[in-house]
Amino acid sequence: MAGDEDDDTGGRMIVWPLERLARLMRAREHEGGLNPAQWEALRFLSRANRFSNSPGALTRYLGATKGTVSQTLIALERKGYISKTIREGGRKSVSLSLTPKAIEALTRDPWADLARAAEDLGGKTRRRLSRGLAELLTQEITRSGLASFGDCASCRFFRERGRAGDAAGPHLCMLFEEALSEQDTGKICREHAAAG
Ligand code: SF4
Repeated sequence: MAGDEDDDTGGRMIVWPLERLARLMRAREHEGGLNPAQWEALRFLSRANRFSNSPGALTRYLGATKGTVSQTLIALERKGYISKTIREGGRKSVSLSLTPKAIEALTRDPWADLARAAEDLGGKTRRRLSRGLAELLTQEITRSGLASFGDCASCRFFRERGRAGDAAGPHLCMLFEEALSEQDTGKICREHAAAG
């Protein structure tokens, strides 16, 4: 509609800055010996819970191909940013961990700079922006049929006091049947299912 073009809150006035911002961030991600795909993998591993720090979960999260993710992980391991161990239990899946070098690199992440700039926005602007972007992301994830990768607080398998008294608790994941600490609940998960 013609009227929308004059409206400074029209949809395009939101997505155009978003597109340019993403492009500028991508350009900065080429600085410092890493590329955008490698940064994405490091950020994912810094946020993923212990059920999700695997090559398969990263592939699902990015919606990328197995081959691309595998090349990214090989490069990160060669450069000393991640280590791989075989997960305990029946299936021989790989568990990925960040090395101290990666943790240090993440303090120089261009997106971390942007997050600090977002902190400086007014409280109301920040809250509305956060809510609006989360809504747009959810819509796009649903449209694409991708996994949500949300955190425990919004998951239907989460039980707030399910493991009260357990040293590894006090929360419970009904799906994995394991205790969750307070710290666990802030991480993202490959099996997250939005509570109804
Ligand atoms: S409660 Fe949900 S998000 Fe949390 S670990 Fe379990 S499946 Fe994952």
